[in-house]
Amino acid sequence: MTDPSATALSAAPADARSLLSPFWGEEARVASLVAGRLVDGAGDTVTVADPASGRTLLTYADAGEALVANAAAAADEGRKAWWGLTAAERGRILHRVGALVRERVEDLARMEAVNVGKPLADARAEAIKVAEMFEYYAGWCDKIHGEVIPVPTSHVNQTMKVPYGVVLIITPWNAPLFVAGWNVAPALATGNAVLLKPSENTPLTALALGRLMIEAGVPEAAVGVLTGLGHTTGAAAIRHRAVRKVAFIGSPATGRRIAALCAEGVKPCVLELGGKSANIVFADADLEKAVGGAAGAIFSGAGQSCVAGSRLLVERRIYGEVAERLAALAEKIVVGAPLAAGTQVGPVQNARQHARIETMVAQARRDGARLLAGGARPAGCDDGFFYRPTVLADVTNDLEIAREEVFGPVVGVIPFDGEAEALAIANDSDFGLAGAVWTRDVGRAMRIVSQLEAGTLWVNSYKTISVMTPFGGFKDSGFGRSSGREGLDEYLQTKSIWIETAEKPGFSFGYG
Ligand code: NAD
Repeated sequence: MTDPSATALSAAPADARSLLSPFWGEEARVASLVAGRLVDGAGDTVTVADPASGRTLLTYADAGEALVANAAAAADEGRKAWWGLTAAERGRILHRVGALVRERVEDLARMEAVNVGKPLADARAEAIKVAEMFEYYAGWCDKIHGEVIPVPTSHVNQTMKVPYGVVLIITPWNAPLFVAGWNVAPALATGNAVLLKPSENTPLTALALGRLMIEAGVPEAAVGVLTGLGHTTGAAAIRHRAVRKVAFIGSPATGRRIAALCAEGVKPCVLELGGKSANIVFADADLEKAVGGAAGAIFSGAGQSCVAGSRLLVERRIYGEVAERLAALAEKIVVGAPLAAGTQVGPVQNARQHARIETMVAQARRDGARLLAGGARPAGCDDGFFYRPTVLADVTNDLEIAREEVFGPVVGVIPFDGEAEALAIANDSDFGLAGAVWTRDVGRAMRIVSQLEAGTLWVNSYKTISVMTPFGGFKDSGFGRSSGREGLDEYLQTKSIWIETAEKPGFSFGYG
């Protein structure tokens, strides 16, 4: 383990301005992006701490309702300019966004690492994925079309796929650039204008991406970035009449509020919420691979991942061995400052999240879970929001630690006997975002994944993800799909057009 306190301060850049200036030059500051300009909000001051030191990193004014109204009105105009281009032109522009993201990977990654607390190598990998997202959806732009339906009357019926107009995308703080790209790229590819509301904790890469989209040729008014709080700026944006669809990525509690707000305005929404994913290891698995996979599943990103493998289900006869090997691996993980070379796990993003992790681990121990590794800050590190990779054994599926999302580097190891019990435990959860099975038996793997109630499943792997494949939740993990071809459908509406072909149409009543 590196000593985070030794590297955190020297690695942190001076301020948000220096991080944003590669994109915004002299103008660089945290504000909202409205019709191509940075505009300061009029709401309360938002303060964001540097996760590695706890010191103030950003302060800015919450956008507030008036600025939201301006941005939404601008986007309502911008959508016409964007949809007015040919599909091939939109595709070329999105390709350019991908190319610009590639050119600026280092600047984007550094910004994300500092603001989120993510190791630089992880932030870099995510930025490259964002370039891939724009390139992938660029290719779809001129392949979206309706169909002709052979209706049995003297008509032709033709469907058209059209955008909603202005879509609002609300994102969380764990992977701000990645999640923004994941949703903005298909929304633009389908001809919508986009308002992006990043988490108040992590506004930087959204502003950078906004700048790059405009530089690539997306009409200025067709992309807006609203920086501010959820219950003020976010809620005002959902309520605005120009917004016709909402994609929300965040916690289940907020997701319920978003769905209620959308219902008031009869606006459809996509909800991508949290998870409590089961990672199931059978005794016939390659244990070296399974233990390494289990560590990556929960500790990468300091466990702040919606698909984190936070419930590790292990067949009883290898339970002790797997739990101990995982604990030994957890102890070796290099926890350090995001920009320090060799860091594998950074701090968690904010003080509130850090306190939540501490509270939940303490409760788990009171509930009878046995601490095998971690369970505290790294030694000598009182600043910043660092937490050691933590392994809790003797966890049962009824404990809070097995039922509630921690969103931190904490895994509960649960024993099981046989396939039926593994499935019963895995599916006994309110969530259904992801899951995995480790076994050498292909038939067993297929039996398990076909019965697991979750949207993304891995066999002898974990967290592999591609923009080419659909992603989304079952149960309280949400509804709708992002990415892949299905990700496009979320941003399209269908028109059904009837064309009369009879030479002398007769008088008709009703529905023909
Ligand atoms: P959060 O729900 O607190 O906030 C998410 C966003 O919602 C933020 O931008 C916030 O400002 C906004 N918001 C809050 N209240 C609002 C309101 N009343 N109206 C409008 N907007 C509002 O989530 P978080 O703590 O930032 O992120 C962590 C959560 O996100 C975890 O539960 C995690 O599992 C989930 N997540 C899910 C996915 C996925 O794809 N399923 C991906 C990443 C994160």
